[in-house]
Amino acid sequence: MRILLIEDDTMIGKAVRRGLVEAGLAVDWVTDGHAADLALVNGVYDLAVLDLGLPRKDGMTILNELRAKGHSIPVLITSARDTVRDRIAGLEAGADDYLLKPFDLDELIARVRALLRRHAGSGSPVLKSGSIALDPVRKTVTRGDTTIDLSAKEFAVLEALMQRPGAVLSRARLEESVYGWGDEVGSNAIEVHLHHLRKKLGPDAIKNVRGVGYRVAED
Ligand code: CA
Repeated sequence: MRILLIEDDTMIGKAVRRGLVEAGLAVDWVTDGHAADLALVNGVYDLAVLDLGLPRKDGMTILNELRAKGHSIPVLITSARDTVRDRIAGLEAGADDYLLKPFDLDELIARVRALLRRHAGSGSPVLKSGSIALDPVRKTVTRGDTTIDLSAKEFAVLEALMQRPGAVLSRARLEESVYGWGDEVGSNAIEVHLHHLRKKLGPDAIKNVRGVGYRVAED
């Protein structure tokens, strides 16, 4: 899952990025409103964390324009504007959640997770596909009764595949959900993760749909 972090405060931005990455999410961080617009045009993000007070274009304008164009990406506003009226305005402009600064990092992560789940159409935190179960909160994967140890990137690849059961994801799409800007990505990084996932989960766990991409086994 790939998050766009829109935050001009360096200290807050660094802390939030670190927290999201530790939670297994890929993060791109922009620090002004125009950079946010450019990033959002690509449409590769699963969620945006949006500050309101930003240089060049404020967060509320970004949100209004985003919704006017019909984008349904979940948006979590983080703001120090603390009147009830501000919060109502944010939610009415199409934000999915609103977190007041200063906030607890764990609470931000929990809210991000909840929004991602809701957007994927599932209230349940555990993703299931056939005998494979993945818990994004506890960071555990089981197949049948067996617990499987995965690296953070292997976990992220599997999570992307299991987020939309039955969907076939291309290698490029998997790369987008697992890596953020500035991450070193080897040309066959995704294939290597898939190879390890098959070794750990069983050779039949992930199907290769020739010329299209990959999907997780449902049987
Ligand atoms: Ca700000």
